[in-house]
Amino acid sequence: MKHSVAFKSSLVIFLGILFYACNPSESPSGAFDVLITNATIIDGTGAKEFSGDILIRADTIAFIGDVNHSKVDVSYVINAEDKVVTPGFIDAHAHGDPVADADFKNFRDMGVTTITLGQDGFSYASENLFPWMTQIDSTGLGVNVITFVGHSTLRELSGTNYSVQPTDEQLASMKEILRQNMMRGAFGLSTGLEYTPGYYAQAQEMEALAKVVGDNNGIIMSHMRNEDDDQIEKSINELLLQGSYAPVHISHFKVVYGKGEERAKYLLSMLDSARQEGVKVTADVYPYTASYTGIGIVFPDWAKAPNDFGKVKVSRRAELEDFLRARIEKRNGPDATLFGDGPWRGMTLTQVSDSLKIPFEKVLIDVVGPEGTSGAYFVMNEELQTVLIQDSLVCISSDGSPTMHHPRGYGSFAKIIRHYVNETQSLGLSDAIRKMTSLPATIMGLKKRGVVKVGYKADLLVFDPMAIKDKATYEAPHQYADGFEYVIINGHIAKSPDAEITERYGLFIRKE
Ligand SMILES: [Zn+2]
Repeated sequence: MKHSVAFKSSLVIFLGILFYACNPSESPSGAFDVLITNATIIDGTGAKEFSGDILIRADTIAFIGDVNHSKVDVSYVINAEDKVVTPGFIDAHAHGDPVADADFKNFRDMGVTTITLGQDGFSYASENLFPWMTQIDSTGLGVNVITFVGHSTLRELSGTNYSVQPTDEQLASMKEILRQNMMRGAFGLSTGLEYTPGYYAQAQEMEALAKVVGDNNGIIMSHMRNEDDDQIEKSINELLLQGSYAPVHISHFKVVYGKGEERAKYLLSMLDSARQEGVKVTADVYPYTASYTGIGIVFPDWAKAPNDFGKVKVSRRAELEDFLRARIEKRNGPDATLFGDGPWRGMTLTQVSDSLKIPFEKVLIDVVGPEGTSGAYFVMNEELQTVLIQDSLVCISSDGSPTMHHPRGYGSFAKIIRHYVNETQSLGLSDAIRKMTSLPATIMGLKKRGVVKVGYKADLLVFDPMAIKDKATYEAPHQYADGFEYVIINGHIAKSPDAEITERYGLFIRKE
């Protein structure tokens, strides 16, 4: 009996597929979960918008075209009149803890349906990511998550740590952990060569790891060795060398204290030349002119682990003071450093220095220390960053998290539409959508997401572009973005204007 029912239903499905194949635009009939009507669809590929209805069945886009309402039976209808429907945004570089704090409402409310963790060289520290992935599956996620394997994490797991040269066994161990975790679903390697212990790695080690990434069809996402204006070309060239073995990607592309459109164009031309030579290279940018990271970024490597800061600040005191004074001045002065946590949260280095009545370099040495706090650093130039954002192979990231004291974790994707599309018109709407959807999906090898297309996963947004507002500021960074009326994740309504939804519909996505 069961067999015959199963046979009949598969026959029905088969005939249904045959019917669609012969009549691709014919309105379908039957039961569906969600119908979006009267939509202006921006499909994520950069193509011109078009109108139509969308039907979703389970987690998949089942039909795009004109739907005859009398022929379908749907559980949830969204009238998208005067609104656009786009793919959910894919954040190419994000931070957060998918176990402890997985609601990720900050991402969802700015239209992000997939985030990319394990960045800057640091990922969940295990030789085997499988139990962690399974744990995440069971606790659930507010948005989809993918992960990279961190290079600094590999150095720690292999016992290489702060050595310049890994032993043969340590290098073999790094390669094997990377390979195994990519087999388990990680999308590639992330590097953070500006941070220790990744900082100590040399070309040979990076080349060996790049080969593993290439052999397993992954990509290298890189927080490069140094983003300062006088070092960035060297850093890009270092990454491009790895590009002989695997696709490479510049994370949060920026030029610290560099200025002007021409500078951006020159750096982009370096990437173009590499492409002519066959290197696959892309980048992401977040739309703010302040960076955010640990205060260690302003200290010299000789004052950081494994060196003992307590000893260094005595034995090399004058040298350290000179270094910090010069470095902070180069980074636009002490007004341009805004502390993000600890007792000085929300104060600039100048303000702390004034309130304690000691020079700022002494504040850094005696009060803060290289591991004492994190901060926002106003070190970027709007004209330069805008040219980077406009490049056709640059996608958008937030580099943000639910807890970071910087507006990018709550505002980035909304700011792209509010500022770059609506206000300055430096990006067209469908181009901006492409940079936040199909482009990052293609870069990272994320399948069946990032395009509004039949057979693709139903991660979708419904919104009026003119109503989008990023509300997060440097003073009050944890303010949710406004205007994304519906956020659909894996076919589920994850945000609606009618009710606050707290169910988690995101998945931990493994690389196929
Ligand atoms: Zn980074």
